[in-house]
Amino acid sequence: MSAQAEPVLGDVDTGHLRRAIALSAHGRSRGNRPFGAVIVAGDGAVLAEAWCNTTETGDCTGHAETTAVRLASPQHGREALARATLYSSAEPCVMCAGAIFWAGIGRVVYGIDAVRLRHYRGERLDQRDAELSCRDVFAAAPIAITCIGPVLADEAAAVHEGAWKV
Ligand SMILES: [Zn+2]
Repeated sequence: MSAQAEPVLGDVDTGHLRRAIALSAHGRSRGNRPFGAVIVAGDGAVLAEAWCNTTETGDCTGHAETTAVRLASPQHGREALARATLYSSAEPCVMCAGAIFWAGIGRVVYGIDAVRLRHYRGERLDQRDAELSCRDVFAAAPIAITCIGPVLADEAAAVHEGAWKV
């Protein structure tokens, strides 16, 4: 089996993606599924950080990326968000890809991809995702959204070991 070569990230992107992965571990430590996200402005300022909080809040829309968009969107205009990057520990789901689109965020970098993540999710219906790539959502959007991933997929995947199929 030959894994596809991952894109090579610069130090700044790598640092922010590692922060998103750390947030995924933090979310897991609070009893949630392990997902984390960070939104970073074009000038490097961190605009929002979030972890998946669906278990602790009971809100099924509390995914890390959507939560981060909810935090950043009221505070920052579309021009700023167009120059921002959302880093996610995992490939955004359909809902989160939609939230990223509606926020007008211009760039996404993610860790583990949705296909590999399904190995951890298992077959239970409430743990399965809609099998539409975030790239298909972004490609259908009328704005340009650059999408980079999977990157650091092994690091992002490690947090999912033992976190599913319960
Ligand atoms: Zn999501």
